[in-house]
Amino acid sequence: MAHGSGLGGRRVAGTAAVALGIAGAAVVTAGFPGLLAQASDDVALVARARGIHDRVLVLDTHNDIDPGHFTPACNYTQRLTTQVNLPKMTDGGLDVSFMIAYVGQGPLTPEGYDNAYRMAVAKFDAVHRLTEQIAPTQIGLALTVADVRRIAASGRKVAVIGIENGYQVGLDVRRVAEFYDRGGRYMSLAHNGASQLADSNTGEATQTWLYGGLSPLGREVVGEMNRLGMMVDVSHPSKGAMMQMVALSKAPIIASHSAVRAVANHSRNMDDEMLMALKQSGGVIQIVGLGSFLKIDPPQRATAIADLRRQLEVRPPRRAPLPPGPPPCPVEAPGATPALDEPDPGVAALPADRRAEYGRRLAVIDAQWPAARASVRDLVDHIDYVVKQIGIDHVGISSDFDGGGGIEGWTSAADTFNVTLELVRRGYTEEQIGKIWSGNLLRVWGAAERVAKEMAAGRRR
Ligand SMILES: [Zn+2]
Repeated sequence: MAHGSGLGGRRVAGTAAVALGIAGAAVVTAGFPGLLAQASDDVALVARARGIHDRVLVLDTHNDIDPGHFTPACNYTQRLTTQVNLPKMTDGGLDVSFMIAYVGQGPLTPEGYDNAYRMAVAKFDAVHRLTEQIAPTQIGLALTVADVRRIAASGRKVAVIGIENGYQVGLDVRRVAEFYDRGGRYMSLAHNGASQLADSNTGEATQTWLYGGLSPLGREVVGEMNRLGMMVDVSHPSKGAMMQMVALSKAPIIASHSAVRAVANHSRNMDDEMLMALKQSGGVIQIVGLGSFLKIDPPQRATAIADLRRQLEVRPPRRAPLPPGPPPCPVEAPGATPALDEPDPGVAALPADRRAEYGRRLAVIDAQWPAARASVRDLVDHIDYVVKQIGIDHVGISSDFDGGGGIEGWTSAADTFNVTLELVRRGYTEEQIGKIWSGNLLRVWGAAERVAKEMAAGRRR
């Protein structure tokens, strides 16, 4: 989930010509809807990629969820407009989805902690409903690495629960064990903004640090996660917190949805020193398919758009009061094509003449400082960099779908194959692609399980 990063993540329509695809390079190939084909691809290469994609276990470590899409009447057995659901997982050959109990950072108060806890529990419960009541013959909840393999071998899809933000732990370290019992298998100690456990990457802009890394309670939570076998996720916390977690954790750590700073300089990404620490821990970074972390817009672009909005008095329109009852179920219209650009309601609400002027001036900005528009090729550029820097055993893939993720060529779980196709184009072997798509992450999870067993047996403290 990328909330709180302004225009980060799935962009609000920022380009005048909302161009579809990467002009000139993207074509739809018959038989493979949405396939991001290139003129240089031969039939044999695509077929080989298809074979590899079908044989390896394809696992995505970060998909956000809305409990409203986990009810008997409205759920993931339907082709919802969500980027992840069972029909789209099937279309794209995505086998394993880490569904996320995410709560945004709020005030560090008893009320704040209580609200966060309730929101998190609603998400844990949602995943249990899907896998136990709504669709147990189609998807199973994995609590162990062995479960992942067993459920996948049975032909079902696999759900795993990840926890985003330690805020919902509140001040009670026993909540970590409760969340583990509810199925949580990784947890990030912070999101955007410091939690009671750790500083956040967002502190970097103003060098505002509450703890210079982890709080004393945060350190305790890391120990508790090791004891239970819950993976430590360093994706949102600050660099200081990340380095302390590597030093403290007895198990390898993960970055569940991040990218690399040398390729795209964003505070959510890992620099070379962090990558080296991650390697030494035996961990894995799951490169995220979220545009603003993969490719950085020219810095002048954001300022120019902000100026334009101010001059033309673009304001978010007043929210209409929600009608009573549950919101309508967002079932996708047949043949709908996914759009990465969402209409900007503030611009849509302008009078016609000012709206036209906005369009004209935005086109000038587009020409001068074009939006970066990341694609699957950029995602794999980040993978290539990690492989070169710390080796093939320390990299994986995540999308952040339904939380800001989605790039050209990988707009939903339905076109996950495009990522494998690009990996094959770059010369990765089936064994390497198997590691990238799931082998590395499952190795790290297995190590976390082993550390917990050793601690329980008193062989390790
Ligand atoms: Zn996130």
